[in-house]
Amino acid sequence: MRLSQMLFQTLREDPAEAEIKSHKLLLRAGYIRRIGSGIYAYLPLMNRVLQKISNIVREEMNATGAMECLLPQMQPAELWQESGRWETYTKAEGIMFSLIDRQDRSLALGPTHEEVITTIAKEMIKSYRQLPTHLYQIQTKFRDEIRPRFGLMRGREFIMKDGYSFHTSPECLKKTYQDMDQAYRNIFSRCGLKFQAVEADSGAIGGSGSQEFMVLADAGEDDIVYTEDGKYAANVEKAVSLPSDVIPSPFTTYEKKATPHTETIAKIASFLECSPTNMVKNVLYQAVYDSGKTVLVLVSIRGDQDVNEVKLQNELVKLASNYQATTVLSLTVPDRTAQGKWSTKPLPLGYIAPDLSDDYIAKSDQVEGNFLRLVDRTAVDLENFVTGANESDYHVVGANWGKEFTLSKLIVDVRKAQVGDRSIHDPNQVLQTARGIEVGHIFQLGTKYSQAMGATYTGEDGTEKPFVMGCYGIGVSRLAQAAVEQSHDKDGIIWPTSIAPYHVVVIIPNITDQEQVAVAEKLYTELNQAGIETILDDRDERAGVKFKDADLIGIPYRIVTGRSLKQGKIEFVTRSTKESQDIAIEKVAKTLSEIIKNSYDFD
Ligand code: ATP
Ligand code: MG
Repeated sequence: MRLSQMLFQTLREDPAEAEIKSHKLLLRAGYIRRIGSGIYAYLPLMNRVLQKISNIVREEMNATGAMECLLPQMQPAELWQESGRWETYTKAEGIMFSLIDRQDRSLALGPTHEEVITTIAKEMIKSYRQLPTHLYQIQTKFRDEIRPRFGLMRGREFIMKDGYSFHTSPECLKKTYQDMDQAYRNIFSRCGLKFQAVEADSGAIGGSGSQEFMVLADAGEDDIVYTEDGKYAANVEKAVSLPSDVIPSPFTTYEKKATPHTETIAKIASFLECSPTNMVKNVLYQAVYDSGKTVLVLVSIRGDQDVNEVKLQNELVKLASNYQATTVLSLTVPDRTAQGKWSTKPLPLGYIAPDLSDDYIAKSDQVEGNFLRLVDRTAVDLENFVTGANESDYHVVGANWGKEFTLSKLIVDVRKAQVGDRSIHDPNQVLQTARGIEVGHIFQLGTKYSQAMGATYTGEDGTEKPFVMGCYGIGVSRLAQAAVEQSHDKDGIIWPTSIAPYHVVVIIPNITDQEQVAVAEKLYTELNQAGIETILDDRDERAGVKFKDADLIGIPYRIVTGRSLKQGKIEFVTRSTKESQDIAIEKVAKTLSEIIKNSYDFD
């Protein structure tokens, strides 16, 4: 490709709309253009990067025996009504774009494809003899994200590889799941990424596991914890650990104490000169179930611990049937306005005890009349603890379960693992944290969708059984940007060779110099013929501009037909190290073939 003929434009300044480095660089270097909120055009250079990533994905997926297909992006509402996700996806989470066609039928733009693929399996797979099977596709997905941001990281239209496997048993699923784990490791290594596989939240379905692949980068939206020995890594949403030891309470008798202005744990700890580890903190949440019921949830947890809202949400979904519901639509800490909608009187916020009276709730058809009282495990064994007195500016001390307070039967693990906690697999290992960009997710779904949609096959024993399913995603466009987030310097992008749009850029410093042009043209043809993907910067620009642009767009190798031509050589520069050497013109193709081959091996 000749740069002079390409729709190509670089920007000197960082665009105001971009916050993180990779987003700025992709915009500045002319890879992408913003068309609307979370909607981007992939310009020719970007398209090549996406094709390279897709091809790596394809090769590794095909090697596992999975088959590529292409499913419709327009999905009839009926499929989503069958799986029970239409309401949640269009209304509650609101993440799905939906529309009504001229025949008055509801449709949605696919955010994911479990419904479509399960329908196909239901119609086409009749017998256990056809199993296992695994289909995948690489396609644009649509999601009306609440906060589209960071360019391709969180778009409303983005490219995903999604695959779905069908099995007769959880064991068979596990095997494919392990194959996917390996295939994903191969894919991300070949893309030149530094990544970490982490245990991930599987939502309330539980299932026997789900794993995310994180590209480590400070700009990542996910918090992960890991141990130095490499034996434990998890998304913080899912992470477990050992809480620190309890420092015994200094109080031995039950007493109510005036504790003015101590509405936070830190304040009450310093006022009473005792440790937060012997306090019971009571946190109020408001959950709205899909039956329309609002439930006020009171979580009692040890004072030094925090609630992990993902774990809490999962516990609440398990209790959904108590409220004639199947799922939780929203979980929030109610602010004053929200409290005003259901409370009969002002709440003693900051001074709540585990037995806060149900009288605070104005019961109605929409609002459950009793607090749902959950106790985190960390609070169960506390003795002589400090907690609120249900009255502003007062606490009680020396309290005990079974005496002053009844311990709820709903004991759960909803605590958030914290940096510095001891690990469960080895208490000598301490949790560290890092930020990650989720580029892939593999998931053992089980029978959730097949059961809901009546997708069954005839088993060996002649009975009808629901498919056991797995699903596996990779954010292809997000991955492309994650690579930039991980690999750049002050001058621009440094693409890993395997996903760079081109291997080499040949720069003609002065296009009025016949010799420079002639050598560059010859090399351009020769290299492309040798299978080295080469771009020619033949623009009528100053040499300095061309060098800056070459650094910015991040092509791994650069050839300059400049001064060294006098010795029959060209200048060869490696983008990542900026090291330069002169190479004889006739040796260029051979030398480069080797260098590029080696850089792939290295990736
Ligand atoms: P996230 O938690 O980041 O929203 P998710 O759990 O919704 O991701 P999945 O439904 O598992 O993601 O989708 C598979 C992959 O698609 C993710 O691992 C991620 O790499 C990518 N992805 C998801 N949402 C987006 C988005 N809005 N923009 C770009 N890529 C995305
Ligand atoms: Mg999401």
